[in-house]
Amino acid sequence: MTPLPAITAFTAQEFEERLQPLALERFRARQILQWIYRRRASSFETMTDLSLEHRTLLAQSFRPSCTSVAQRHACADLTEKLLLRLDDGNLIETVLIRDGDRKTVCVSTQVGCPIRCVFCASGLDGRARDLTTAEIVEQVLTIQNALPEGDRVDNLVLMGIGEPLLNYANVTRALRIFKASWGLGIGYNRITLSTIGILDRIPQLVEDRVTPNLAISLHAPNDRIRREIVPTMKKKVAELIRAAVEYKRATKKNVTLEIVLLDGVNDDKKHALELGKKLRGTRVKVNVIPFNRVAEVPYREPSPERVTRFVKTLGSCGVPVTVRKRKGDAISAACGQLRHQARPRDTAVAIQGEPIPIPPSALDPSAETPQA
Ligand code: SF4
Repeated sequence: MTPLPAITAFTAQEFEERLQPLALERFRARQILQWIYRRRASSFETMTDLSLEHRTLLAQSFRPSCTSVAQRHACADLTEKLLLRLDDGNLIETVLIRDGDRKTVCVSTQVGCPIRCVFCASGLDGRARDLTTAEIVEQVLTIQNALPEGDRVDNLVLMGIGEPLLNYANVTRALRIFKASWGLGIGYNRITLSTIGILDRIPQLVEDRVTPNLAISLHAPNDRIRREIVPTMKKKVAELIRAAVEYKRATKKNVTLEIVLLDGVNDDKKHALELGKKLRGTRVKVNVIPFNRVAEVPYREPSPERVTRFVKTLGSCGVPVTVRKRKGDAISAACGQLRHQARPRDTAVAIQGEPIPIPPSALDPSAETPQA
């Protein structure tokens, strides 16, 4: 039997239309959405300003949500990680990162990931499927509902498992729900979307007026090292830098280039100089992320001295550069690690292989097609 749709799948307008066949007045849509997004309702029975008849009708037609918490892990630095169980038994992870008063949720957008960056636990299993709008929205809503009354999530980063721009329709609809005053009320200035460089989708964000801050995962100062680290992608370093500059010009949003530093691969002084030369004058910021060790991949984290030398050298070229703080190491908060460890190897939860939907234009014809 097909499960009832979750209310978190709809924009306010779509939900109003869905209520019409039930003969509920239009204004009821926003009243119900307020219960879901502001008043932490987890069932229709608690919506006490609706008649019993309306609550019964709603319960026959919708579910308030479609995910459940399978595991919860907390770390001494107050980072928390949830594993959410989906209708089909798949698991996804979402992370709450606290920094002073700031509460940031790291959101996943696919079950697994087809990109297979060589350092990443999420890429080890390939992609099982895209997340639905409701599954993306509920990651943030579940964390928000677990905060003390009156506390709110104030920042989002789409940097969890999956490539957001390969799940464009669901991700942009979720972003609209995050931003909406009837939804979670988190403006695009406080949301960062991270992409490996699905470049044809970036101008589409501008066209569709869904304009979060953007982080493009560059990972390398030149095409040779980029192909080594991200073997499934063919976009060139120069094209990625151009896309960053153009999005910044078109939206005035924060745009960063992300570099995961791998010991002995891309963390040398000469790499920083090469990158610095290419970025001179662009005013695009670089965010350096020292690699988080993953048992399953053969890369090592660079020493603090190598990180400092890389950052100083890049800075000396006039490039604004920051280093991402490590959070949640004790609970495997690096992308994909917890889910990968929790996944039973031989049960129904195991990810099934499927063709990988990377647009042909993004694939490197000389690279081996990744297998899910
Ligand atoms: S780093 Fe991101 S894009 Fe690369 S495999 Fe992991 S989840 Fe996918």
